[in-house]
Amino acid sequence: MSPVLVVLLIFVLAGALVALGLGLSRRSQRRGEIAPTRPAPSPPITPAPPTPIVVEEVEPEAIEPSEAIEPPEAIEAAETPVVEAHVEEPRLRDRLGKTRAAFVRSLAAARGRGTVDDDTWDELEETLLLADVGLPTTTRLLDGLRERARSQRISDADALVDALHVELVALLDESGDRTLTAHAGEPNVWMFVGVNGVGKTTTIAKVAQRETDDGHKLVLAAADTFRAAAAEQLSEWAGRVGAEFVRGQEGADPGSVVFDAMSAAASRGADLVLVDTAGRLHTKVNLMNELEKLRRIVERTPGALKEVLLVLDATTGQNGLSQAREFADAVDVTGVVLTKLDGTAKGGIVLAIEAELGIPVKLIGVGESAADLLAFEPESFVSALLE
Ligand code: GDP
Repeated sequence: MSPVLVVLLIFVLAGALVALGLGLSRRSQRRGEIAPTRPAPSPPITPAPPTPIVVEEVEPEAIEPSEAIEPPEAIEAAETPVVEAHVEEPRLRDRLGKTRAAFVRSLAAARGRGTVDDDTWDELEETLLLADVGLPTTTRLLDGLRERARSQRISDADALVDALHVELVALLDESGDRTLTAHAGEPNVWMFVGVNGVGKTTTIAKVAQRETDDGHKLVLAAADTFRAAAAEQLSEWAGRVGAEFVRGQEGADPGSVVFDAMSAAASRGADLVLVDTAGRLHTKVNLMNELEKLRRIVERTPGALKEVLLVLDATTGQNGLSQAREFADAVDVTGVVLTKLDGTAKGGIVLAIEAELGIPVKLIGVGESAADLLAFEPESFVSALLE
């Protein structure tokens, strides 16, 4: 081979080697560009399902998040306090915070002075009035306390606070039976009455949860046929606790709703019907007439009407008392549910309701969740206020 040919061959070989090297480096460069901007394609591919069944299982999972967002009920259900219903019973003392603070402050001042003097009595009176116990009941309580202090020769503030505790419990104990009546094996109807906004529907929901947990089979009846929103709310709650729900067309006769609810209870073996009633009509007379009519419809089944529960909003204080009088005059109220005790310093209204109307407070609402409905017990209520 001539030297010229040898040189030519070397050039050709060198050129081929350079071209090969450039090609390789470009490919590896391209890989380097893709990697940081996009997840390596291998992971989604590698676990690719070997059979169509696995693919079917994967697909719904991929769709699920957007589906979970869609129905509002799903969100509400997640946010609803009912989920927490059994986690912990709220502590009354904490929930009565605002009313309790006023009592504790005043009693601490009295205790600080040691002996009972005129200022002690003035402070006690002021505290009771500020808590919306009302003048008649305050006067009655303090008269009883003065008498007790005299007869027991109480001169020490600590002993006077103990005596106040006894007086308060004694006053509340006069109101009689606080149990909610429901007899096994027969229809039991509880009617809920009260003006709009007091927490009637919420209370029914809380009661429904409680009674379902206790093993009752429920029917919820929306007998306020003018308030679609309340009926919707009730329907949702019925769904959550697994109760039957009965409502009428807008403006339909509430009496027929109650009648249908009682029939539904009979045919489905439910033992407790909770009736939500109107809280507002054109006139008070109309409203009271309607409640009276509903009452008569329930009473067509002798013994079925076990409770007429008046729902009152504690934050309205003494105004609630005049409402209570009107309802008590129109329908035989068997008990009071006092709501929103958690948000008011007017918790003393419990004492006024019991002392002035003689109606037992049977349940108290101390928050918006299902667990925030408590049976009213004088001893624990007074302890929560004073200690
Ligand atoms: P209704 O018009 O009487 O049926 O009243 P609702 O049941 O719709 O309640 C009115 C408002 O009061 C709602 O925002 C409830 O969450 C609230 N509520 C009801 N009971 C209580 C309670 O015990 N404590 C507090 N803080 N709010 C309550």
